[in-house]
Amino acid sequence: MSNPSLLILAGDGIGPEVMSQVQRVIGWFGDNRGLNFDVSEDLVGGAAYDKHGVPLHDDTMAKAQEVDAVLLGAVGGPKYDDLDFSVKPERGLLRLRKEMDLFANLRPAQCFDALSDFSSLKTELVAGLDIMIVRELTSGVYFGEPRGIFEEGNERVGINTQRYTESEIERGARAAFDLAMKRDKRLCSMEKANVMESGILWRQVVTEVSKDYPEVELSHMYADNGAMQLVRAPKQFDVIYTDNLFGDILSDCAAMLTGSLGMLPSASLGAPMDNGRPKALYEPVHGSAPDIAGQGKANPCACVLSFAMALRYSFGEGGEADRLEAAVEKVLADGVRTGDLMQADGGTPVSTTEMGDALLAALDASL
Ligand code: NAD
Repeated sequence: MSNPSLLILAGDGIGPEVMSQVQRVIGWFGDNRGLNFDVSEDLVGGAAYDKHGVPLHDDTMAKAQEVDAVLLGAVGGPKYDDLDFSVKPERGLLRLRKEMDLFANLRPAQCFDALSDFSSLKTELVAGLDIMIVRELTSGVYFGEPRGIFEEGNERVGINTQRYTESEIERGARAAFDLAMKRDKRLCSMEKANVMESGILWRQVVTEVSKDYPEVELSHMYADNGAMQLVRAPKQFDVIYTDNLFGDILSDCAAMLTGSLGMLPSASLGAPMDNGRPKALYEPVHGSAPDIAGQGKANPCACVLSFAMALRYSFGEGGEADRLEAAVEKVLADGVRTGDLMQADGGTPVSTTEMGDALLAALDASL
């Protein structure tokens, strides 16, 4: 049987720096766990624009459609700020998401014990936190028609339309229930059924889907209450399923409960491919961090943890994903910190490569 395939798109700024550490981790799994991947690399974002005049070449798009998973670093940077909207680096990422039809965005908010004092909340509220937010990514108010700024009488009116079909709600719900089955079997669906018809439909469809998942305990919450509960008592949640707009806001809010952008992975999943696994793009939540790019300061953990998600959701290697996450936990517990994880009271930060060294040593120790 051929090896699973992985397309690496390191992108811009700190993207290539953090990705080089992930490449070492991938190599480690090949050398030590017999897990070999057919890894190919290509350009995205500003790097692709510099070479091809577009932020994602058609050939790269075609490759992304064929592989088992895509791992992306970050795109963007000040050099590209004045480009036309149609060729901005971010358009490369949007094209990948759109053409791969990645409708479920998975954003874990997991608090590593060693970093619990980094949260803006009290340590006891976040220690051991482990939430997964599933955000519907390809529909809702960001895409609904009509949209635009129109003249009405003697003033302008801005219009966006919240629109969800049953099937759009359903496929995301199934992804969320499947995840809940692999976790603590609790799912909280969030909408505004009190004031929005799309919310009423959302609640109905999620309830219908739940009949296929009798083991999962389903609850419903208005999204504004959800925001309050996330900062009041975040550990009450296991999996949260919500729409594109609410998910955008709630997932950022939940992510910050855990402290640093440099620690946050994400996955975007689409429909199952012939092998039964979903189309998938894995990427850190952070951007290209132009303020520290090229200085060897970036924290590679978010990108490494994105690869751990790929191990779990694309390659069926949950045990190895646990091993990698435990290595990150150990390194942090040992006090190894990149600059973004330093407290005001000092210490010496390690470089991106030194963080990679520490991760590999922790992986060695796990054998
Ligand atoms: P950013 O995430 O790049 O950086 C925000 C802050 O967090 C910066 O101070 C940065 O140094 C720090 N930071 C981020 N990741 C870090 C890491 N791994 N280690 C240490 N520190 C880290 O967001 P921004 O500054 O708003 O955007 C910069 C560029 O990135 C822009 O061009 C933006 O469009 C782009 N961007 C891309 C993505 C993506 O590729 N998915 C996401 C967000 C922003």
